[in-house]
Amino acid sequence: RKPHPLYDVHERNDVYFSIKSTEKYHESRLQLLVLTWFQSIHPHNLHIVTDTEDSTTELLRDFGYTVHIADCPKGHTHQPMACKCGVEFEQFYIAKENRSHYNWYCHLDDDMYLNVLALFELLDTLNPLDSHYLGQRSINRRIDIREDFKRKNNILRDSYYFATGAVYCISTRLMEQLEYYLRGKEKMMGYSGAAGVPDNMLIGLIIEGILGYNLTEVSTMNSHLFPLKRISTTDLVKQITISYGSWNINGKDIKNTISIEDDLFDDNEDPTRFLSYHCLLHPSTQWCHSNERT
Ligand code: UDP
Ligand code: MN
Repeated sequence: RKPHPLYDVHERNDVYFSIKSTEKYHESRLQLLVLTWFQSIHPHNLHIVTDTEDSTTELLRDFGYTVHIADCPKGHTHQPMACKCGVEFEQFYIAKENRSHYNWYCHLDDDMYLNVLALFELLDTLNPLDSHYLGQRSINRRIDIREDFKRKNNILRDSYYFATGAVYCISTRLMEQLEYYLRGKEKMMGYSGAAGVPDNMLIGLIIEGILGYNLTEVSTMNSHLFPLKRISTTDLVKQITISYGSWNINGKDIKNTISIEDDLFDDNEDPTRFLSYHCLLHPSTQWCHSNERT
């Protein structure tokens, strides 16, 4: 096994990270995370759920991360996504049974950069023995629960808010309350189908509609649904997550990435801006220095 090139690894051991990926993104996305923010997390606490074994999953295992291959239908529609999410939840419950110190479950898509210290600072202000659901709304209004779902289930509220599926954190206390509904792919797919919503909405539906808790809006949990260029350079270091993507406006592709002043890498070397952002947060990283020549 290769030695793990640890630097800046945070000692904090009570946060379980679950990353969702798929074969076609192993090289383009996961490899970038391995090079950057994965390095700040103890490998024990990082689990990747994907659909195929290849040289990237082998590399991840060499680094000490846990890779789970989900046996799910393929594709980006409700049922396959709910299935994979169910596997992510299942793996958390299994890990918690073996290592009982987890206070938090955090999910991230594979196109997300996590500013680990900013997340830990937020979690420090919260009591994990309470039921917390942290994220950012992608739809800024309450979603109505379908009539037939309300009739068949014990519903507290008619409508709910939900966090964007790209990043959210749930306290273990609340994960325990969700276990009955969302542990494993059968349950997640069953409820997702019955409610007619994808997994990220289902999580909000159960937490707010059935259990009666509220989403805590964290405005620094950005995804590529939000305009990232608007974040000022001074605010960048305070963000918990950033991402990248593009918008098609009138047939033109507009890049949605953060903008960094005095960046170390240009757009060609670093199209996602993750390398430059990583160097902004962790300037002592070796590959950040070697690029300092002008
Ligand atoms: N994904 C997946 N299966 C697919 C397509 C995507 O598991 O067939 C995962 C992908 O790895 C990522 C998440 O779903 O973690 C969101 O995918 P993407 O960023 O491509 O789409 P978005 O929902 O952000 O538009
Ligand atoms: Mn995405």
